[in-house]
Amino acid sequence: MRFIIFGPPGSGKGTYASRIAPRLGIAHITTGDVLREIIKANDPLAEKVRPFVEKGMLVPDEIVIELLVKQLKKPEARSGFVLDGFPRNLDQAKALDQITHIDAVLNINTHPEVIIEKISSRRTCRNCGEIYNISDINKEIGGVKYILPPMLPKIEGRCDKCGGGLYQREDAQPETVAKRLEVYENESKPVIDYYQKKVPFVQIVANEAPDMVVEQIIKDLLTAGLVKQQTF
Ligand code: ADP
Repeated sequence: MRFIIFGPPGSGKGTYASRIAPRLGIAHITTGDVLREIIKANDPLAEKVRPFVEKGMLVPDEIVIELLVKQLKKPEARSGFVLDGFPRNLDQAKALDQITHIDAVLNINTHPEVIIEKISSRRTCRNCGEIYNISDINKEIGGVKYILPPMLPKIEGRCDKCGGGLYQREDAQPETVAKRLEVYENESKPVIDYYQKKVPFVQIVANEAPDMVVEQIIKDLLTAGLVKQQTF
C-alpha cells in the first residue's frame, strides 16, 4: 500500500495520515518533519535547507528527493507508506515515478472558509507541537454540512501531553492563511492533475472530527479495493 495524501494547509491531512498509517501497518513519511528534524539536530545539511524552510520556499528537489529515498529504504516503509508533503511539484512527481510505484492518491477537500476558521482557532504547544482547536464549527457551506467540534486542552492554555504553553502560530492570520491556500492551489494543481490521469484517486470531504474522517477514509479505501479488510 503506497499512497500519497494531498490536502490544503489546515485540512488536517497530517493528522489523518498519522492515524491511518498505524492502522494499515505502513509508514507515515512527512518531508516537512524530516526537514525540521534536520534543522533541529544541526545535521550537516541543516545550513543548506534552513533558509528555504524559514521562508516557506521549496527546498531544492535534489536534496528533498535524496532525503525521501532514505526514508523509503527504512524497514518501517517495507510494507508500504503514506507520503505527506511530497511530491510538491511535477519534477518531484516524475522523480518519484523512477523510485517507486504509487497505488493511489487521497485528496482531502475542505471549504476555504472552514480552513481559515480552523487555522485561526488552532493553538500549538510551544514545547511538543501538539495541536488543539478552540473553535466549534457547525454550519453548511456549498451544500456540505461541516461539524467540527473543538479539541480543547484539559487546562486552558496548557498542553495535555507535556504541560507546555499553547500559542497561536504567526502564520495563522486570516490574510496569511488565504495566501497559503492560494500558494497551495498553484503548487498542487499540476501535481494533482498528473496523478488523476495515472492512479486511482480517492476524494475525501473533511467535514467532521478527525476520528470520523479517518473511518471514512478507511471505508473509501476498502470500497475502492485499495486495502483489504484483514489488513487492520
Ligand atoms: P506546510 O504544509 O505548513 O507548508 P510542511 O511541513 O509540509 O509545511 O513543509 C514545511 C517546509 O518544508 C516547506 O515550506 C518547505 O520549505 C519544506 N518542504 C516540505 N516538503 C517539501 C518538498 N516536498 N519539497 C521541497 N520543500 C519541502
